[in-house]
Amino acid sequence: MFEHPTPEAAQAAEDRLVVALRERGQRVTSQRLIIHRLLRELDRHVTAEEVLRRASEQLPGMSLPTVYATLDLLTELGEARRVSVGGPVLYDPRTEDHAHVRCRTCGRVEDLAIPMHSAPALRAARAAGFEAGTAELVVEGRCAACSAGADA
Ligand SMILES: [Zn+2]
Ligand SMILES: [Zn+2]
Repeated sequence: MFEHPTPEAAQAAEDRLVVALRERGQRVTSQRLIIHRLLRELDRHVTAEEVLRRASEQLPGMSLPTVYATLDLLTELGEARRVSVGGPVLYDPRTEDHAHVRCRTCGRVEDLAIPMHSAPALRAARAAGFEAGTAELVVEGRCAACSAGADA
């Protein structure tokens, strides 16, 4: 898990985003900055809908397609990771390859703290002629709350 970001770390992350946007000839807009900051503050897997809901509190008038486009741009810039583990697409502030566990009852997704040896898989994919991007390892199961029959 992440340490809670300090103000200095948050500023450094924002400076990095501004540089990355400018290098790509992309505009630095308040919605891009807000969504980037939200992702780091929430520090967990989020759907575009949740990002829209929270971002709208700070900047009304944002649309879901804009939020998707921004999250995809952040993913391209290496500032977020798209996680497809069944259910809605999630965006993750952790960008290095890491494993997930997903509850098949309530859909909750958490990180698993294990070493990921994805390099051989990526190498094999390249050898098969694929331009390999990211590797996923997903464990499917039932979370403790669902197993206990609690509302999840
Ligand atoms: Zn569950
Ligand atoms: Zn994750």
